Amino acid sequence: MPAFCSLCVSDEYTTEGVTDDGRPFITCTNTREHGTDGYTWEPAPEKASKSRGDGLGAELDIWDKLLECIPADGAAHPYGEVEDRFIERYPADASLLQDKYGHRWREGKKSANQYSMSVYLAARLRDLAKEEAVDLTWGPAEGPWSYNGIISYWARP
Ligand SMILES: [Zn+2]
Repeated sequence: MPAFCSLCVSDEYTTEGVTDDGRPFITCTNTREHGTDGYTWEPAPEKASKSRGDGLGAELDIWDKLLECIPADGAAHPYGEVEDRFIERYPADASLLQDKYGHRWREGKKSANQYSMSVYLAARLRDLAKEEAVDLTWGPAEGPWSYNGIISYWARP
């Protein structure tokens, strides 16, 4: 059964892939909705018993670090701003993730497929949303992210 893209409410453009380290991902290539790169995400594991189930995430203590990168002002902050802050505060973790998964446009390793460190970090932010530690909304992308069409915005309620 093809994966369902919750953003364009369709399974017409979705394909499944796996990263070199065995991480499954889904890409929706509906370019009208998501821009030229499409929208890539990690499927939620079936019957996940806890939201912080990612092994690498546990190693890096990624959830608490990401939470710290969202100002506790109740406002919705675009994904790119959260990522900028993460790179600034945790350069070693950021370069580890970029070496592993690449990035679409930053200096350093480029992503080999649609999966990138940004997809990884957004997936971990979604873990936090599942815990209701953050609120996820969607809005237009700006600046270097604008090729995405719309991107995620994160707020600490
Ligand atoms: Zn889509």
